Amino acid sequence: MLDLTPREYSKRSALTVNPAKTCQPVGAMYAALGIHKCLPHSHGSQGCCAYHRKFLTRNFRDPVMASTSSFTEGASVFGGGTNLKTAIKNVFSIYNPDIIAIHTTCLSETIGDDIPAFVATAQVPEGKLVIHANTPSYQGSHVTGFSNMVKAMVKYLAANSKTPNEKINILPGFVNPGDMREIKRIMKAFGQEYIMLPDTSGVLDAPMTGKYEMYPKGGTTVDEIIDSGNSMATVALGSFASSEAAYELEKKCKVPGKVLKTPIGIKATDDLLMAISKLTGKPIPAELEEERGQVVDIMVDCHYHYHGKKVAIFGDPDLVIALTEFTLSLGMIPKYVLTGTPGDAFEREVKFMLEEAGIDGKVKALGDLFALHQWIKQEPVDLIMGTTYGKYIARAEDIPFARIGFPILDRSVHSYLPIVGYKGAMRIIEMISNTLLDRQDRDAADEDLELIL
Ligand code: SF4
Repeated sequence: MLDLTPREYSKRSALTVNPAKTCQPVGAMYAALGIHKCLPHSHGSQGCCAYHRKFLTRNFRDPVMASTSSFTEGASVFGGGTNLKTAIKNVFSIYNPDIIAIHTTCLSETIGDDIPAFVATAQVPEGKLVIHANTPSYQGSHVTGFSNMVKAMVKYLAANSKTPNEKINILPGFVNPGDMREIKRIMKAFGQEYIMLPDTSGVLDAPMTGKYEMYPKGGTTVDEIIDSGNSMATVALGSFASSEAAYELEKKCKVPGKVLKTPIGIKATDDLLMAISKLTGKPIPAELEEERGQVVDIMVDCHYHYHGKKVAIFGDPDLVIALTEFTLSLGMIPKYVLTGTPGDAFEREVKFMLEEAGIDGKVKALGDLFALHQWIKQEPVDLIMGTTYGKYIARAEDIPFARIGFPILDRSVHSYLPIVGYKGAMRIIEMISNTLLDRQDRDAADEDLELIL
């Protein structure tokens, strides 16, 4: 299928082929679903909204609800103010959410619609709320959209009422509901109260009850978001997805923020645990220490499965940065590291890690999968790690492929199972090891097929 990708690397500035990202509203919609009883609203055409809902539904295999301003030719020329005001009125009277979280699309951004001005003259029922984030898709990526929406939650809602709540705000970043559950389990092990923002667990991994719920039980409540302004500190996981909201909380409510890596792998998880311990004065829970020991034991047991293997990693920047650190600690060689999201900080951070490890690798932000494929054609790797979109390269080059990140559209259950924390580290090692061992079995001649590897 990708057999015609040329080996010769051609520098491109105005053309993206096989993007390693999707558009801002996808991330904004995902973040908004992490508020309890929130209906995300897409201010643009129906097509955008349908695409974004479908994208999320395919990844999480759960229905994703969102409304749209349904732009027609008239709105495209004269602006979408009337459509938005009608939408707000209809959505509150028909679907009764506590809050509507509006994000823009390319079209409404290009027109220059002033959302706060429209909302100010809309009929918002008493006790109901409307927030918004600008999410033009010709800039950034779904991660930028997620970051913008989380920042908007803080900007609109967080308040310092001078009554400290002794809680820690956790901004988990663009991770799966299963990861959010795992981070909450870590906080519970510490016996520490927290506010997680946003929290899509219980929304996009809600149990089957036999009854349809428009607004499942999960999600951060509006009251919790308001109260986040009274917390003792904010721990923001993943600088690309979470730092903006943390800085906003610090600026608006004087809640000190600490930005850490997404806790993937031993070191990044250690850093999270140490930060919580330092902030709270509580010791590291014994059950988490035990899990760490298990990860180290697993690494000793099966290091020869993956040690020295070359890997190409692509996907969202926070996840890729943390995965690069983890694969380095496993003794692997991250040869190509790429994200579709723009950001010099990504390139700086990953290049630094590779240099420290003495690895001659290629690193790119705002890159595409065409570039990744060309690099792989020039010098192959032993393993590709990334989203579903990598499977075409894996097939063309016959390279083992481990699906990790967002989106994963052709496999299921991944969104329930964590890749963060020590439990997540075990899962990633299993994923890497078994993918490589499956390949070894597949390639072995009959006489070399071993029962024990
Ligand atoms: S028009 Fe813009 S917002 Fe709509 S789907 Fe395309 S990139 Fe996304």
